[in-house]
Amino acid sequence: MTMSDDHEALRRALKHAIDYIDGFDERAIPASAALGELRDRLGGTLEARGVPAERIVDELAANVEGGLLDSGGGRFFAWAIGGALPAALASDWLTSAWDQNAAIYATSPALAVIEEVSGEWLKDVLALPKEASFAFVTGCQTAHVTALAAARQKLLSDRGYDVGARGLAGAPPIRVHTGALCHESIARACRLLGLGTDAVTVQPSGRDGKMKLDALAGVLDDGPAIVVLQAGEFNTGGFDDFERAIELAHDKGAWVHVDGALGLWAAASARYRHLMKGCERADSWATDGHKWLNLPFDTGFVFTAHPKAHRAAMMVRASYFTAGDDVRHPIDWTPEWSRRGRGVPTYAALRSLGRQGLEDLIDRSCGHARRLIEGMGALRGVEVMAEPIINQGIVRFTATDGDHDRRTDEVIDRIQRSGIAWFGGSDFLGSRVMRVPVLSFRTTDADIDKTLEAVRAALDD
Ligand SMILES: *Cc1c(COP(=O)(O)O)cnc(C)c1O
Repeated sequence: MTMSDDHEALRRALKHAIDYIDGFDERAIPASAALGELRDRLGGTLEARGVPAERIVDELAANVEGGLLDSGGGRFFAWAIGGALPAALASDWLTSAWDQNAAIYATSPALAVIEEVSGEWLKDVLALPKEASFAFVTGCQTAHVTALAAARQKLLSDRGYDVGARGLAGAPPIRVHTGALCHESIARACRLLGLGTDAVTVQPSGRDGKMKLDALAGVLDDGPAIVVLQAGEFNTGGFDDFERAIELAHDKGAWVHVDGALGLWAAASARYRHLMKGCERADSWATDGHKWLNLPFDTGFVFTAHPKAHRAAMMVRASYFTAGDDVRHPIDWTPEWSRRGRGVPTYAALRSLGRQGLEDLIDRSCGHARRLIEGMGALRGVEVMAEPIINQGIVRFTATDGDHDRRTDEVIDRIQRSGIAWFGGSDFLGSRVMRVPVLSFRTTDADIDKTLEAVRAALDD
């Protein structure tokens, strides 16, 4: 191993990365390689002797061909996957080259500061309280786990119970209240934290994605409780009625957590900010970096209005830590020990967009979603199931024989196989639907035209 190995491998990685990105417009979106083919190409026994770095890089690039779903391009509209902004991607490479352990200040002073600065910027653009604590985690799932751990800490310590020391076995039971359209990652957070899914009470949700609040007041008592609200429900993009829900919950001493994986970003836009009214009064908020902010995977963010509880739930001290009153150790706020410098791509993305650029990204995605839904809604055999509230809507495809579920899956499959655009299916209040989310900074007006053309062709087939 020599330095030149290092250089050559990096140079080739750069070339392959640029080739890949340049191919977004031309390549078909779906992965075309079969499972067996990928196993043949990538498998085999591990060589006894190491392979030169540059050869590994070349072979990787060749062998994944046809096995990547082109989710980073401008006509990919499924799940909640954004692209990777150039500044974020490039600085993520640097983060790997620096290979810092961003756990404590001593292992990477600069990265600790970058995280500190980015955390303040995020609170500012997301209109969250200045005093809120924050953490950079792997995604919204881990953000939920972190926030609900802080909730568990505070709800029980308020009742004189130290959950960190005593565990949950003898603790007063914590109830969790969600809407019917709550994301599954909340249930998993409840499982991981020992709250259990039996602790979850589900309130009905409306077609607008909002939790119905009529029954909530009745089920909240004085026991420890968490109410989970949503900013940008997964199918409709709907926002809960924060003002009323938070008032109800706080009246009973409940902790309010907001799943804002998608919708928290609405706060960055003058046009959509009104949807977030009252949201700043919640107790914790979770969102993603790798979705609408267009960071490469994987970064999520969590914020809490209770820094003491947040820190008490996560803090660690080891003999090899150097203390300092004025420093922020990322490890004190996340469930991880050694960790990647996730602040770096975040910092780069925010700077590359600027406030105005972020607002434009939000507004543009929402405008594209509106154009897609309007364009599809004008076609025969398309029923709009939800108009976009922010950057997504839902449609279904109707069949003359009345089997709309089958027809919807069939048309989705045809669009996917066209290679031109990609949407995914979902179940929404008892129907199969096609979700139409727009998150990528790469999506242009021309991409919307091409996509509508591909949908029209799939309907005619
Ligand atoms: C994606 C998503 C999650 C989970 O986030 P990850 O970043 O994938 O961990 C949670 N809630 C909603 C609404 C989401 O869209």
